Amino acid sequence: MKSVLLFVTAMCCFVVGEAQRICGTLEYGLRVQHNASNKTSASTWSRDTVPNEMITIPVVVHLLFNTAEQNISDEQIISQIKALNNDYRRLNADTSNTPDAFKPYAADTRIMFCLAQVDPNGRATKGIVRKHTNVEYFLGDDGMKFSGSGGDDAWDCKKYLNIWVCYMFGRSLGYATFPGGAPEKDGVVINYDVFGTIGNLRAPFNKGRTATHEVGHWLGLRHLWGDESCGDDGVGDTPRQLSYNFNCPSFPHVTSCSTDGNGDMFMDYMDLTNDACMNMFTYGQKLKMRSAFANGGPRNTFLNSYACDSSLATGAPLPDDTLPVAKPRADVRSYPNPANDQVTLMPLNEYVLTGKECVVFNMAGMKLMQLTLSSEKPTINVAKLPAGVYILRIGQGGEKRNIKLIKL
Ligand SMILES: [Zn+2]
Repeated sequence: MKSVLLFVTAMCCFVVGEAQRICGTLEYGLRVQHNASNKTSASTWSRDTVPNEMITIPVVVHLLFNTAEQNISDEQIISQIKALNNDYRRLNADTSNTPDAFKPYAADTRIMFCLAQVDPNGRATKGIVRKHTNVEYFLGDDGMKFSGSGGDDAWDCKKYLNIWVCYMFGRSLGYATFPGGAPEKDGVVINYDVFGTIGNLRAPFNKGRTATHEVGHWLGLRHLWGDESCGDDGVGDTPRQLSYNFNCPSFPHVTSCSTDGNGDMFMDYMDLTNDACMNMFTYGQKLKMRSAFANGGPRNTFLNSYACDSSLATGAPLPDDTLPVAKPRADVRSYPNPANDQVTLMPLNEYVLTGKECVVFNMAGMKLMQLTLSSEKPTINVAKLPAGVYILRIGQGGEKRNIKLIKL
């Protein structure tokens, strides 16, 4: 009995150079043991899928932004959900680009996606958690999946597909977890500038297919070449490939692994070609993805997730985060400047002067005077200083402020 299968959590879709997708199945720190114990245990409510029933997956998008550019619009997020639905239902506008030889294999998976309408606490939601983060960029170490590391905690992965949208270091496209991993990390990560089909997107990854590909992993699909030379992806109707394809080959792309003249199925979403080159899943891939929803399968609980139904929500949605308004820097000014006999200091933006030290240096760095300020508008007598340029240093360490003073 095959008791244990080792699955490697997929980390994929880096970009090399300007516009080349690369997606090795690399470990990003965790090997997931996928065995019977990971599977959803049967309970009174579990049921099997009905053949070809429409399966709708509630999605929560955790949008993590550090800058205004990364704070992509609701419309851009909605455009990604539409792209997922078009691609998984084979309603995409470019089905005509599927070569005739492969058209008989192209499937409507009858899997759909909605932005969640009910959050884990039963409140109404638009399925988007918009959250400001102090993290400038995230790495492939799952930091975006935890509030404690500047990310946002997953919603219950038995009921929601968690998609984290953020800025990834190196402008990686994204990565996904296979079914059966740690619940708090379950889901998909996508870079903000390859998410959706409208907005400020990075060509040639501007048709939402990074998410289509990654969600395919989340539903158990492997890369077409099985991540090894002429490897097997576990799907019967995808031809063996020597390796991945970049950009967009022309049909037929025949390699040493090809068993017929049709060659690679490079337009399948589980290859690594450009967004505009991809346009199909196969019936075999459909069966494999849908098997995850069967009784005992790792995504079976989604058959009982009602988070797409807004009528079940109670309570108002939680408010979005916004970019914090930058506070003006606490500072200090002097007047008059240039000065004759005395100069007065004036604090700005809640800067506190009382008790701070003030040291006067000449431009050679020699300390000429030192005093402790005794009020918020102290006056300093500079009558004895020769004419010239001086530095008044107020405070110490990070609180230190330097003022250039011209003595007449
Ligand atoms: Zn991949």
